Amino acid sequence: MSSSSSKSSAVWDYFHQELGTVYAICNSCAAKAKLGKHENARKEWSTKPLWNHLERLHNNSYREALAKRKATEESRKKRRLGEVERAEIYRTGGTPTLADYTARKTKYLPDSEMQAGLVKLLAEWIADGVLPYGVVDNKRFLAFIEKLNPKFGVPSSKTLRVKIIPDVFSKLKGHVQAVIEDSVCEWVSLTTDIWTSHSKDSYISLTLHYIDKTFHQRMVVLGCFGFATEHDAENIYRKIEEQLEEYPSLTTKVHTFVR
Ligand SMILES: [Zn+2]
Repeated sequence: MSSSSSKSSAVWDYFHQELGTVYAICNSCAAKAKLGKHENARKEWSTKPLWNHLERLHNNSYREALAKRKATEESRKKRRLGEVERAEIYRTGGTPTLADYTARKTKYLPDSEMQAGLVKLLAEWIADGVLPYGVVDNKRFLAFIEKLNPKFGVPSSKTLRVKIIPDVFSKLKGHVQAVIEDSVCEWVSLTTDIWTSHSKDSYISLTLHYIDKTFHQRMVVLGCFGFATEHDAENIYRKIEEQLEEYPSLTTKVHTFVR
């Protein structure tokens, strides 16, 4: 450490250096403290003996110096963090201004491509994981998104339930409709199953199976619905018929039905 940078240490408020020597002189008692073994080996000099002197003989000054050193370290740390933030802005080009900081936090417009794309990914994640809509109201989830991209406005669980997920469903349904109507897909089979959840709610599922153009076996879950009535043949028939009516082109193509 060079003597000039040593002097940036808080301990130098209590000492002065004897010019051209390896000694520092205490401002309180004029005692000499040696900075290192050799006058010429400045790199090995250290303020450690000065700290030791203060600790042994001037305890109030010692504690004061320690507090100053801590404050300096904290402000250096803060400055480094600030540099990271500035670097982020530089990375995107331009000169950082207050407007840049504000822009980083300004939400995307609701009908912007970015907002729509992110909402779509969010909806797909919820649908694919069969997650409760409430995940988007979770405080920690919102904090995670805010840190990741403060410009994304996370939709509420209500918007998900009444608008976003139904939209995903109807798009997917249209896609399934198109697959069924495809003339290459001449015959389809259906399977169904009924089961009861841990909370004693019954469900019935309907799955479509077919062979595609490339002769690969495909399956599509057409639905999974609450089934509160008695599980007798008539009720099952009615429920399935009800669901099949949603896909009119299916009726002429079904050749097997398996439960
Ligand atoms: Zn002293």
